[in-house]
This record gives sequence, structure tokens and C-alpha cells, in this order.
Amino acid sequence: MTKRILITGGAGFLGSHLCERLLADGNDIICLDNFFTGTKSNIAHLMSNPLFELIRHDIINPIFLEVDEIYNLACPASPIHYQHNPIKTVKTNVMGAINTLGIAKRIGAKILQASTSEVYGDPEVHPQREDYWGKVNPIGLRSCYDEGKRAAECLMMDYMRQNHVDVKIVRIFNTYGPRMALNDGRVVSNFIVQALRGEDLTVYGDGSHSRSFCYVDDLIDGMIRMMQTQEGFCGPVNIGNPEEFSILELAEELIRRTGSRSNIIFQPLPADDPVQRRPDISLAKKILNWQPKISLGEGLEKTIAYFRSIL
Ligand code: NAD
Ligand code: UDP
Repeated sequence: MTKRILITGGAGFLGSHLCERLLADGNDIICLDNFFTGTKSNIAHLMSNPLFELIRHDIINPIFLEVDEIYNLACPASPIHYQHNPIKTVKTNVMGAINTLGIAKRIGAKILQASTSEVYGDPEVHPQREDYWGKVNPIGLRSCYDEGKRAAECLMMDYMRQNHVDVKIVRIFNTYGPRMALNDGRVVSNFIVQALRGEDLTVYGDGSHSRSFCYVDDLIDGMIRMMQTQEGFCGPVNIGNPEEFSILELAEELIRRTGSRSNIIFQPLPADDPVQRRPDISLAKKILNWQPKISLGEGLEKTIAYFRSIL
């Protein structure tokens, strides 16, 4: 059955892939975006599809729409972008959650919140399971995002308990792939663009910090499976690839794969940069029957090919 689905942040990196996949499944899509980090070019190929509709709107303001499902992705995700206007980042997370939950409550729609591994902060538990409460600096430079996302999770849970809204929370771990912005600032796109341009790869700190990188197609599949879970199951569920790499390993791997002559240089670590991060995905395996299929090597090749094509 065709569903009408609202995707906030639909013109961004993940949002544009989600629009594409849900359209291909025959759904009617409303893509809502204020184009802070998203672009029209991310969704240009969808504009001629009669099932696709674009609304330029800032989700900190209320909006009245009739839909069956809501994916709430609106929020800059890269540290340089979410720290550009931190007050706006908090507003987007909090007001955005309230406004999308308001739609869900009014019309009985399901709502999925794109939360983040950042709710675990700089974790003392490794790998991170969903029942770990995290170690977040509430007053630091990253808190507009971390605490904003934690407040959004809180709102989701309270709307579920108080107003019986069918909410779903996924905690997304570092995801990469085609359509990350050239100036995104996150590590995979930074390193690929630097390597392809023959510029130095900027490793922050000594390169020993780790992350676990998930390819976008796997992530989108996990999100859609989460939306399809039975009413009353809210998660949160970690979605990510548990293969963990140091940032220095990633830099070396990308120099090798691009055949670049770039060098690696070391720069100061940003404040509160989490030392390590890896999802425990037992819950996603059990409830969603989901695990990533695309290895880092395969995903990097696809991403390198994308950046080569646009540079
Ligand atoms: P992105 O920056 O490419 O996309 C965010 C989108 O939201 C953009 O299109 C932007 O223009 C839009 N947006 C921002 N503020 C808005 C507002 N006030 N009103 C309307 N639209 C607004 O980032 P992404 O990587 O695609 O991330 C999408 C979502 O997934 C975000 O909520 C992010 O926190 C979450 N997430 C992503 C990752 C990841 O690794 N990519 C990890 C954890 C969580
Ligand atoms: N990083 C880096 N060089 C860059 C960009 C990022 O060494 O050019 C590091 C960053 O300090 C962090 C890791 O890569 O340790 C992942 O950073 P990203 O911004 O991609 O994501 P997040 O910190 O939000 O997980």
C-alpha cells in the first residue's frame, strides 16, 4: 500500500538516499528541508517523479501536514556545521522534535527519530550498547548536538508515554557515502577529497582515535526496518557497522585506494572528541534482522568514485 511519508532533512546526505529508496518502494514522499547543509542537487533527480514533493521549510517552525510516517532527520550532522550556529542546532533538535511529534500526535502517524551515537558522548563502555547512558559534557562545544539529540530522545519517549505516539528511535553511528557535501568536514569525505586533490590528509590528534564506519545503503535499510517494527517497539536501536578503525588507519587506507601522493599531517584534536566508538548491534540483529552487508573497502570504493566524478 502506498504510504505518504514526510522526511525532514530530506535534501541532506542521508535524507536524499532515504527519499530515493522510499520512492523506489512506491511511496508518496514529502521532502522538507531548509537547505542549511542539504542541496537541491541531492534531490534534483527525484523532482520529476510525481510521487515526490519538496517543501522549503525550517522545522523549528510548526507545519501542518497529513502523512502516515515521519522520518525526522533535520539537523546538521558534521561538527563544523552544527557548531556554526549552536543555538540554532539546539532549536532544530528540540523544536524540530516537538513540531514533528505534534504532527504525529494530531494525525496518529508513526515517527522515527534519527538519533546518534553522540548520545554516548566519550564512552567509558566499549562497544556501546543501547542501555549505556553515556558520558556527555553538557556544557562543551559538542553539547548543542549531543544534548540536543538527547533532549529529542527524551521528547520522543515522553510523547510515547503521555500521548501514545508510535515512536521509533535509531542511534546512527558514523555513516558515509555518495552525496556527502564536499565541505562537509567529516573524516571520510575530508580524507577522500584531500587525497584526490593531492592535499595533505589532516589527522586530528595522533590518529589513534577510532570510529566504526557504516555505508549509507546499509544504514537506510536499517532505518526502514526500524520504521516497520510493531507498534509499541520504540528502541532505541543502534545502527552502524561494528568494524572499528583508527583514524590513522583510515587515512592510510584512503591514500592507498586513491593512489594519491598526499602526505598525512597531524593537527590538534577538537575539544571533547570521543576517543573511541563502536556499536553493539545485537539488538538490531535480533529485532530488525539487520546487519551491515557492505565492507569498508567496498563502501570506500563507491564513495571515492562519487567524489572523483564531482571534483
Ligand atoms: P546533513 O547535514 O547532510 O543533513 C541534514 C539535513 O537537515 C540537511 O539537508 C539540512 O539542510 C537539513 N536541516 C538542518 N536544519 C534544518 C532545519 N532547521 N529545518 C529543516 N531542515 C534542516 O547530515 P546527514 O549526515 O544526512 O544527517 C541526517 C540526520 O542523521 C541528522 O539528524 C544527523 O544528526 C543524523 N545522524 C547522521 C549521522 C551520519 O554519520 N551521517 C550519524 C548520526 C546521526
Ligand atoms: N578527523 C580527522 N581529520 C579530519 C576530520 C575528522 O582526524 O579531517 C577525526 C575527528 O577528530 C574524529 C574522527 O575523525 O576523531 C571522526 O570525525 P567526524 O567529524 O567524521 O565524526 P565524529 O567526530 O562526529 O564522530
